[in-house]
Amino acid sequence: MTTDAPPPAPPPPVPDELWVRLGRSAFRARFHLDARDRAYLEAKGVATVMSHAADFIAGRLAPAHPARDGRQTPWRGHPVFVAQHATATCCRSCLEKWHHMPKGRALEPVEQAYILTAIRIWLDRERAR
Ligand SMILES: [Zn+2]
Repeated sequence: MTTDAPPPAPPPPVPDELWVRLGRSAFRARFHLDARDRAYLEAKGVATVMSHAADFIAGRLAPAHPARDGRQTPWRGHPVFVAQHATATCCRSCLEKWHHMPKGRALEPVEQAYILTAIRIWLDRERAR
């Protein structure tokens, strides 16, 4: 007999206030997709790019003590990397400062889902620019 796991909790909504705060940061606001990022996003499709995002978050951010924390997210080379810098989801210090996710413990699935939601919203906004 198998027991079904409960459905995962939905992530908390990304507050509008986050986008206001990010917009006030000259550092965060300067990140945008370039032509190459846009072409990649359109060629691969948002769903595939978001599956890459899920892998990046799970592998590079979610562990309690990520490898090379603070330097694990390249500045360019994938639209999600750019989105991570723009949304302050690039390393555990930024997640703690901007998103109140404490360092030193693994990220919960619901926190990873929240990060992915923020990245998705940012990518959608960039595509609409
Ligand atoms: Zn960071």
